[in-house]
Amino acid sequence: MTRPSTIRRLLAAVAVILIVVIYIVVVRAPDPLPDPPLPSDRFRVVSILDGDSAELRGGDQLRLLGIDTPEAGQPFADDASSLFRRLTADRPLRLTYNQNRRDRYGRLLAFAYVDDTLMVNRVLVDSGLAWLYLHHDQDNTTSEFQQLLAAQQHAIDHRVGVWAEDHPPESHYLSSPNSFRFHRPKCRHLDGLAIDRWDQFPTRSAAMRTGLSPCRTCQP
Ligand SMILES: [Zn+2]
Repeated sequence: MTRPSTIRRLLAAVAVILIVVIYIVVVRAPDPLPDPPLPSDRFRVVSILDGDSAELRGGDQLRLLGIDTPEAGQPFADDASSLFRRLTADRPLRLTYNQNRRDRYGRLLAFAYVDDTLMVNRVLVDSGLAWLYLHHDQDNTTSEFQQLLAAQQHAIDHRVGVWAEDHPPESHYLSSPNSFRFHRPKCRHLDGLAIDRWDQFPTRSAAMRTGLSPCRTCQP
């Protein structure tokens, strides 16, 4: 039979253990670290820099992903900038990303949505004021890129915006199977290369219908 003094000692021991446990768990336990703040995906445009880039509130720059627009001074450059400005004026942007969130200049590389569903990148392509400009460091198979390509094919077929312009035609255009650019046959980037197995296109738009974009040197 257990004596009352033994029970008291047992209870006292249990109490001490409980106090130690409570001390360790409640008093000594470090505060859990707060979750790192999630980067907001909502942005406001402060100013439009050109047809495909803008300055955002907070100091970041945005470069619309997957497209290129006419450079300043070229036809349709102002139209692209003003459409970009109209689309984003007083409306928050939601940004989504592909594999790389920033380009080598530190700009955010993103698909930009207004009203949550309207993709600015795509509206520019729909309007013939931008064209696809792909890079190997992104996953170009996603639905966003497929949307952009479909929009570009539609704009080419309907000769909207830049697609209404005539370019002095070459006999053909060339593209390396490993590249997203295409060239005039005499482009200096082709010098000394074995181009026998390169893809050939009869027209500029035939190349661009596949998602290729013009070389910035020979500007086909
Ligand atoms: Zn070229």
